[in-house]
Amino acid sequence: MLAILGAIETEVADNRRLLSDPVELRAGHLAVHRGRLHGVEVLLARCGVGKVNGAMATTALHSAGATSLLFTGVAGGVAPGQRVGDLVVATDLVQHDVDVTALGRPPGQLLGEPASWATDARMTARLATAAHARAAHDGRQVHQGRVASGDQFVASAPRAAAIHAGFGALCVEMEGAAVAQAATTLGMPFAVLRALSDTADHGAAQDFPAFLTGSARLMAEVVEHYLRADQSKIAL
Ligand code: SAH
Repeated sequence: MLAILGAIETEVADNRRLLSDPVELRAGHLAVHRGRLHGVEVLLARCGVGKVNGAMATTALHSAGATSLLFTGVAGGVAPGQRVGDLVVATDLVQHDVDVTALGRPPGQLLGEPASWATDARMTARLATAAHARAAHDGRQVHQGRVASGDQFVASAPRAAAIHAGFGALCVEMEGAAVAQAATTLGMPFAVLRALSDTADHGAAQDFPAFLTGSARLMAEVVEHYLRADQSKIAL
């Protein structure tokens, strides 16, 4: 069963409202809603902000019977030419706040862990198709590439540029790579969709709350395209 996870209430509210025959359950510490979304049986949950919360929720959802996981949330764009409202489909994720460079490791890499965690190719292809289908309505951009996560709200153009240059990341957020690490360890296929609420610069603290609701609605519409796609052709 597919689990759909977001960090904050606004990121999960639209999908939860659209859930039919919802049943509330607990998976360890996590409140989970189970039901049908656009005709597909799913688990929905909100993990809270940050990497530890993302990893814990991923583990809890796996224990509750999730066999694949789709993370949807907002992010700050760090690549040139991006605009608030653009969509980002992750191909792989890094933890930009990991620093073991004093012991000779590359920035972002932990001992025994890969340099980045790759998303599931089939889910990601399906997610990209869904994002393009939604973007076709109003001509917004869809970017596909690396996402950088850390326990930092980035609101500085130089810091954003450094994360883009240092990691080749398209956007910065606070949960994705932790979800990716946990899901990879558990052997659970996953994909990550982000909508840009800000561009991680000096305006981010104002832009993030201003564009959160619109970005969340946009992602719920991408999720609808994802779930309504021909399920006989591409497995969840
Ligand atoms: N509303 C919370 C804080 C949310 S932090 C509070 O008031 O405490 C921002 C959330 O959106 C995180 O879940 C993160 O994944 C994402 N995000 C959006 N823009 C970001 C940015 N510029 N830097 C880091 N995370 C960002």
